[in-house]
Parts: sequence; C-alpha cells; structure tokens
Amino acid sequence: MTIPGVIVKQLNDLPIEEVAERLGIPINRHNALCFMHNDHAPSLKFSVGKNLFHCFVCGKGGGPIQLVQEYEAWTFQEACVWLAGQFNIWRPDEERYRKSVRRAIRKKFLSTTDESAIEFDEEVFSWLIDTARLSPKANKFLFKERYFKKEVIDKLSVRSLSYPNRLVNTILKQFGEERGLKSKIVRQGKYGLYCSFCTPCLLFPYYGQDGRLVGMQSRYLGENIKVPRFQFLSSQKTRLFNLPVLNMLKRGDKLYVSEGITDCLAMLSEGMNAVAIPSATLLPREDLVMLKEFDLRMYPDQDEVGFRAFMELRRFFVNHYSTIRAEKLPEGVKDYCDYYVKSQKEEGNDGIHI
Ligand SMILES: [Zn+2]
Repeated sequence: MTIPGVIVKQLNDLPIEEVAERLGIPINRHNALCFMHNDHAPSLKFSVGKNLFHCFVCGKGGGPIQLVQEYEAWTFQEACVWLAGQFNIWRPDEERYRKSVRRAIRKKFLSTTDESAIEFDEEVFSWLIDTARLSPKANKFLFKERYFKKEVIDKLSVRSLSYPNRLVNTILKQFGEERGLKSKIVRQGKYGLYCSFCTPCLLFPYYGQDGRLVGMQSRYLGENIKVPRFQFLSSQKTRLFNLPVLNMLKRGDKLYVSEGITDCLAMLSEGMNAVAIPSATLLPREDLVMLKEFDLRMYPDQDEVGFRAFMELRRFFVNHYSTIRAEKLPEGVKDYCDYYVKSQKEEGNDGIHI
C-alpha cells in the first residue's frame, strides 16, 4: 500500500508536540526525556518552528511520522495509518489496512537512580528460600505440566509457598514486626498483618552475578482469576533472572534472552544458556548492558506484541553498540515454553514422578 504523497505531507505538517502528546511523551518547554536511550536530563528537543524532534545524545530525529515510527517501532506505513486515523486525516481504501494499528506496551528503561533508595532485605529473603520447599502442587506444575528439568529447578532454588499465615507468624517471631513490614513480605491490612504473596505460589529467587540474593518474584498457582499471575515485592530493584549464568560464559558465547521466567526455565531445561527479563514492561538496563559481549538471541513470542518487544530490545542493544538476533519458532506455537512442552510430549516424556 502506498500512502498518497499529499497525505504524507499533511501528516508531516501535524504539530510535532501534539503528536508527541498523543503518543504519551511528556514535554516540558519543548524538551523531553529521550525514549530511545536511558536519559537522565531531557536530551530530546522539539522545534516547533521546524516541526522536528531531535535527540542530542542518540543523534536521531525527524518529523511527526518519524517520531511515531521511532516511538512504536513501526514501519513508515504503519506510522502513517495510525497518525492519519488519530487526526482524522485519511483512511486507507483497502479493508485490511483500515483496522488501526495496535500500540505496543511501552517499556520503561530503569536506571540506577530511580531505584537505588529501595532496600532489599537479603537476610529475610535468604531465610525464606532456606526454609521453604516445593509443595505437591508446585511439583505438579513444574515437572508434570511444564516438564522442567529437576537439576534446573534445584540449581535456581525455586520454592513454593502454601501457608501464608504460618509464614507471617514465623517472620514476626524470627525478625520482628518492623523488619517483616519493611521487607514487604508482611503487610498491614485493615484486619491485621497479612502476607504480600498471593498463595499458593512459586517463589523464584533472583541472584546477582556475584551470587547474592537480590530479589524475588512469585508465580500464582491458584484458581482465582483476579489474582495477578506474577508478583514482585516493591522492596527490590528489577533485575535479570539467572545472572549467575554469565560466570559460565566466554565472550561471544550464545546467550538467549527470554521474556518471562517460564520461557527461561524451558530453555535452561533444553541445556541452553538463558536469562529472563522478568516483566513485559520493565527493562533492567544496567543488567542488560552486561550482556553486550555475548552472541545474543531471542525467540520472540509469535504475535505482534512479541515481535515489538524484540524490536525494542534490539533497539536498546543497537544503541549500546551491540545487537540481538531473533530466532523463529515453528508455526502454531505461541512462545518458547509452549514449543518446549509440545516437543517433550512428542518425545513421550510423561514428566518426572516425585
Ligand atoms: Zn536519545
């Protein structure tokens, strides 16, 4: 589909700051934090007179269409269709282009300063990992349904939590109320103290490259659909999952980056080297920078959102003078874990019995 020249002209004449506003970029006196790199001082300038944007750090810039392309990682056509629809300028004749383009979930780049004030109580969380075990429900999920390898789960110290009240009481006894609350494992509610983790759940500890415990994420195993599937406690920085794997790699070794822990566990069970970005919307950039020297690969989820997530990650690495390559999953599977589970079933693996 060709966008008529007259339309392109009209789109590029749209006030650049209004376009930025539609995208959700906050502008203050023609300046904004650049969304193309991790910006601390607003480096992105908008020239109203010339109707252009420009980042002095990345050196990137252009007109309204270019702005939409950069921000959403869209093609020229996609950006034009979205922009024309937003400002009621034009609709393509062909039906299939009429459906407006879906906007990506914008990732926030996290930096040191944003979160350095947060304290993670390594001792309390280490105690939790030392004390907790894997429940029968957790075993069923990990080994019977997902076919993850026992060695992988053991090595990562994955645990589960089934009795939240018992946990709260033990923490209070062991560490006291103040520390329990500060760790954010215990919370103060209307009817007393309660556990922050929605249970039953799995606990995935996050370790730094030096092996120290730096965070924890839970994965709900219950039936209540209103409960968020993954939970982070607010007392921690967002980090990459499985950072200690870097100690086993040499420069140039292949390393997979997955979105979410489940895909990462599947890859590790296949004997691949992998780290995970914990959430679809937060990029732990300090950790990502450490991956630059490896041969980075990703299996994007097989949908538009997955592809965009990959593009965004690639943009991050390109801005850091590196890159990441996409590998393709076979047709009909939605993500790496799905692919892994299907292939295990085909091989006749019926999961280990514990
Ligand atoms: Zn920039």
